[in-house]
Amino acid sequence: MLKDEIEKLVRLQEIDSEIFTCETVIENFPVLKSQMKKSIEAATQDISFIKKEQKKIQVEKKERELELQSIEDEIKKLQKRLDEVKTNKEYTSLLSEIDNQKKKKGEIEDIILLLMEKEDEINKKLIDFSRKSEEVKKDIEVKIIEETKKMEEMQKRLEEKKSERAKIVVEIRKDVYDIYEKIRAGKKDGVAICKLEGQSCTGCSMFVPVYVAEKVKAKKEIVHCENCSRILY
Ligand SMILES: [Zn+2]
Repeated sequence: MLKDEIEKLVRLQEIDSEIFTCETVIENFPVLKSQMKKSIEAATQDISFIKKEQKKIQVEKKERELELQSIEDEIKKLQKRLDEVKTNKEYTSLLSEIDNQKKKKGEIEDIILLLMEKEDEINKKLIDFSRKSEEVKKDIEVKIIEETKKMEEMQKRLEEKKSERAKIVVEIRKDVYDIYEKIRAGKKDGVAICKLEGQSCTGCSMFVPVYVAEKVKAKKEIVHCENCSRILY
């Protein structure tokens, strides 16, 4: 009886839909995994960028400190010479030279202060980012393990469903099965048979005319949705 064949097709569709879900998860897994790994890399890259910035600031500060040291030495030297000068003119010129050096010293001290502030900021930023990056890394590593487990479960389930499928397929009339398979192959969602609900096809949501619906209810022949061509039951 065709009624029985339709019932078998419905069961087969349930199995095929599960197989479809399993296969989708398995197929998507490598991309998902590499995306997750990339997120870890991105977090690590942020850290190495901040470290480079930190190094730059440290180097500049060191240079400025050396510069400051040499100006301070120069000032000391000039001040010593004050005791040795003979003329007023020399004295005034030395004083103005000392003044110049002191001005320079002040400027460099300001720069060093600024660099110290920058260094503080970047040190804090580095601590902050390192913590966050560690968190991201841990979270993603946990997620990779979870997703791997899920995928392995899906592989097991897929095998189970495939053998279940093989058992039911041999019970289905060949011509009916062929129709089902032909439709299924053409559908992106892998759905070949779907329920008629009220006046609409649950496969494409389109209206099903009364005469088609009557034929579906009679269960005497295979009835297709006029819009999506799926088998209706
Ligand atoms: Zn339809």
